[in-house]
Amino acid sequence: MLKFSKNGLSRWTKLVVGLWDREYHDSRIILEQQGDLKYLVIPARFQRNLARTLLVTVSVTAVLLVGMSGTAAYLHTRKMMLEDSHKEIYIALQSAGINPDAQNGEYTQEDMLEMARTIRERDMQIRQYLGDWTENLASRNSQLRTLVKNSGLNEKVISIIQGNQKVGGFSENFKPNSLLSSAFAKETAINSELKSVLEALPEKMPLEEYVITSDFGIRKHPIDNKPNLHAGIDLIPLGNKDNVRAVKPGKVTIARYHGHMGNTVIVRHDRGLETLYGHLDKILVKEGQEVAEDAILGTVGNTGQSTGKHLHFEVLIGSYQVDPKKVVQTAQNVRKIEK
Ligand SMILES: [Zn+2]
Repeated sequence: MLKFSKNGLSRWTKLVVGLWDREYHDSRIILEQQGDLKYLVIPARFQRNLARTLLVTVSVTAVLLVGMSGTAAYLHTRKMMLEDSHKEIYIALQSAGINPDAQNGEYTQEDMLEMARTIRERDMQIRQYLGDWTENLASRNSQLRTLVKNSGLNEKVISIIQGNQKVGGFSENFKPNSLLSSAFAKETAINSELKSVLEALPEKMPLEEYVITSDFGIRKHPIDNKPNLHAGIDLIPLGNKDNVRAVKPGKVTIARYHGHMGNTVIVRHDRGLETLYGHLDKILVKEGQEVAEDAILGTVGNTGQSTGKHLHFEVLIGSYQVDPKKVVQTAQNVRKIEK
């Protein structure tokens, strides 16, 4: 390893200056070839250019090595910061009960907003990361250009160095190191993966105009009066707009009568998301049918264990019921921030 003691450094400088300024003379080499003697002349100019090219190559390589290891350390730190940020988002998702592995957690609208904010922040960090990195390379490239310019070498010698040192960043169409760019691509992929989980959430309710008459959570059952979990929300349509519409595209997995829920439709969407529509009057789809977003699934009714005309709506993620109101709000918040 190189030792950068003051003494060592000045000796190194003297050696470099000495080699640079050294005077060269034409050299003659005598070769014996099948009894004949041949003279080979190596001009002084050629020797000097060769020695100087080697010196510049060695110096540039040393500068690059120091610079690149600095960049690597910097990028590593940034990567660790981003990974920490991922963990935070996963924890946020878990506490929001969106991760199927987590318990059916309690969460507030503020948690959801916080989650959306974290994702936005993370996105900004990635943009900053790319910006810093590009700036870093650009300034190093310009330093190196100056270094070569001040070396006093003629165009031809510089072009030889450039020919051999393209990796060092002289070329205008510089391409990032594939290792670094793949790490970057991975970060971006994880980011978009998280975003697509949130984007899988429904952004709307199944009725056009409605009032919510019963929220998600523990409540006294309207019929037997015992406390139980109300695993969805109850909606009453306004202005006779009774059509129940799919909140996202998907496939109908259940379309039949159920003792408690009455006429029931369940639609399976992407990414483990399901929606349930209960107490329908008429069912207008068949099991196995593919439905588009907003497709009419049936009409609001009073079938099954129900005390009046209303729609019971559930959102299930990996078969865990979550609060439809909060999920819809989260999806709307994420969409707002993305715009
Ligand atoms: Zn209900």
